[in-house]
Amino acid sequence: MLGSAHSTACYDKMRGHEVREQCPFCGEQIPPVWEHLSWHCSAEQLSSGRPEVPEDELQNRLAWPPRGCDAYGRAVLHHMARVRATLRENMN
Ligand SMILES: [Zn+2]
Repeated sequence: MLGSAHSTACYDKMRGHEVREQCPFCGEQIPPVWEHLSWHCSAEQLSSGRPEVPEDELQNRLAWPPRGCDAYGRAVLHHMARVRATLRENMN
């Protein structure tokens, strides 16, 4: 089960940096917060295979499936794990 992960904006703040105003993945003028990176970023490495945005808040943020882990629940888990890995691989 995937736990909480941090966004690029959160890592900026944790390292004492100004939060960047532009997403480093898609170039859009938006801070790279988790909601953007997980569910709205147009960069191929974050959007490829992305499932529909979960309506359930815990599933949306933590990938916890609300009613057992069906195919959609597994897709959300895999997607969010891939987003987390991509963010960690591209920290700068
Ligand atoms: Zn983006």
